[in-house]
Amino acid sequence: MGQQRWARRWRTKGLCFVAFILGLSACASLSDPSEPAHGSDPEGVAVSPVEDGDWPIHGRDFYEQRYSPLEQIGEGNVADLGLAWSFDLGTMRGVQSTPIVVGGVFYVTGPWSLVYALDARTGKELWRFDPEVPKQHARYACCTVSNRGVAVDGGRAFVGTLDGRLIGLDVADGSVIWETLTVDPEQPYTITGAPRVVEGLVVIGNGGAEYGVRGYVSAYHVDSGELAWRTFTVPGDPSKPFESPAMEYAASTWNGQWWKYGGGGTVWDAMAYDPELDLLYVGSGNGSPHARWARSPGGGDNLYLSSILALRPATGELVWYFQTTPADTWDYTATQHILLADLEVDGRVRKVVMQAPKNGFFFVLDRETGEFISGAPYVKVTWAEGLDAEGRPIESPHGDYRHQSRMIHPSQMGGHNWHPMSFHPGTGLVYVPALDISTPMGFDPDWTFQPGRFNLAIDFEEFAEGGGEAEGFLLAWDPIQQREVWRIAHRAPWSGGTLATGGNLVFQGSSDGRLVAYRASDGNKLWESPAGTGVMAGPVTYALDGVQYVSVAAGWGGSFPMGMGEVAARARVRGGGRVLTFRLGGTAEVPPGLPWPAPPPAPVFQLEASEADVAAGSSLYHAECGLCHGAAVIGGGSLPDLRYASTAVHERFQQIVHAGEREALGMPGFSDRLSLDQIRQIQAYVLSAANAAAAGQKSD
Ligand code: CA
Repeated sequence: MGQQRWARRWRTKGLCFVAFILGLSACASLSDPSEPAHGSDPEGVAVSPVEDGDWPIHGRDFYEQRYSPLEQIGEGNVADLGLAWSFDLGTMRGVQSTPIVVGGVFYVTGPWSLVYALDARTGKELWRFDPEVPKQHARYACCTVSNRGVAVDGGRAFVGTLDGRLIGLDVADGSVIWETLTVDPEQPYTITGAPRVVEGLVVIGNGGAEYGVRGYVSAYHVDSGELAWRTFTVPGDPSKPFESPAMEYAASTWNGQWWKYGGGGTVWDAMAYDPELDLLYVGSGNGSPHARWARSPGGGDNLYLSSILALRPATGELVWYFQTTPADTWDYTATQHILLADLEVDGRVRKVVMQAPKNGFFFVLDRETGEFISGAPYVKVTWAEGLDAEGRPIESPHGDYRHQSRMIHPSQMGGHNWHPMSFHPGTGLVYVPALDISTPMGFDPDWTFQPGRFNLAIDFEEFAEGGGEAEGFLLAWDPIQQREVWRIAHRAPWSGGTLATGGNLVFQGSSDGRLVAYRASDGNKLWESPAGTGVMAGPVTYALDGVQYVSVAAGWGGSFPMGMGEVAARARVRGGGRVLTFRLGGTAEVPPGLPWPAPPPAPVFQLEASEADVAAGSSLYHAECGLCHGAAVIGGGSLPDLRYASTAVHERFQQIVHAGEREALGMPGFSDRLSLDQIRQIQAYVLSAANAAAAGQKSD
């Protein structure tokens, strides 16, 4: 009874406030009766210290609800919304940033961790900061070089950079106050998430579980950048001392030699802080490698993968956890938006945490204890039959792809990914950018760990074949009844995060290149504007000088647009990052987007290659190139579609791919991974796909 023993030891060390319910991996804790039920001074704590006009925190307030009470723009006049200003982010890469608006200044990040400070009234650039991330680091970014935003506090803006640095900038001019490296530079870590500032500490996690890293979250002093604490999410080498009782306990749920593969569990996005309970909630990611039979061959739940973790923010100590996907083997991260609210459930107001993790189940938990309150599938789910009474998913035989490949629903993209949700306290609904995507998954029993590369133990041939469903929609979800209230279907998946406002509105950008306002209560479409590119990030709203603005950082790109080939191309949008800010009566023109190209002409360039070369090239392409340049060499509109590659590119193909001739443009060299002959085979496959497209055929 490891859980009992661990809980007892924890208590005897005086780290009480927690006791684990016996035998449950989707585990809840009970507060210690000797502790007050709430923080020491709940009356004195402002849960939402937000000026109505500002957007000061990633999710606007501590609850991260992405709800603003501003109502100048409402259902009666939203039709008069027009562009106030736009700002060109100068990128074809994916834009995922939530702007922060404080004191009339608009802080937004772009790809490669660039930070821009703009005049929030006009969009005029005040300063920009380029951390000069080495372009080679793109190889370690599963899902492009995006960044989801800064935290601003006490005259400083904090940004995590793709290559793992955390930087404090002076908001006056963007100059560096301090900079610290948060990762081992020898390991393939990345930062794409937005930091949060909690009680004098700036908190940041990282990504990299696809490549083989050990997940953790760290806190640094805002003044000095000095490390305050680091909390790992999965156990390390058990022959070495454990960092905490929580890690020792977690190790009892793993076996084999997981630590050699990192284990995963990276904290790459969601965080929320409840000042009243003094708890910091973070979400952990999938296992490394994905397939659990390679990661922990003797079974076990593999704590704390795919979990919501409640930490004491001063120390990083684990107070409770809830594992959304025990023994994850489908890339089902619990890094998705963590949203706090006070909901009346069965006649009683409960302090809850809500999440729609990738695994397809919407969870409502007691955020004080981690107790499961309710859960239900919010999209189609085939890997599990439902949830048991403690909220643990009941696995279905359809989810087991160990011996036979399976069509899994939701796919690795999730029923919901990083795109933020919102909660409208008036309607009581959560607005989820939802995905119904299925994918074939097969286990690669011959997988061996290769440092610095994709380490999934997944059969890529299966993945390359694609197929299955791929739909995206805006879902209005009642979290108390755990049921759908309405939905809006989109032309292509991967539409944007949502914003709810006091004007009974929900704003969402669409993957097919629009910003749309819906009536929050019934989903009626009331207004839309072209965006000139696909929109993925969450919109914000703010007010200055009596004028309400709605703004979004638009820009198509990232994992789905880059890697999903034909399905991503359905959106018919291209990259072209820009900030678009609207107000009533705005008259500026939305800059046009790049046109969708006509089918490619047959390539002039010729290469001697056999059928076997093309087949080998397909395999290599899907292992090394397809995640950025698209499945079956079909570009999704963001990075170059290689079927259109010019003769000049084909003539330099070896130098570009092997030697990294275009590294400055973001195309790294692969001389350490691919031989010249393998690159020739990839080129043969690319040419074959281009010829097939020119002849009006699919390439695969
Ligand atoms: Ca992942």
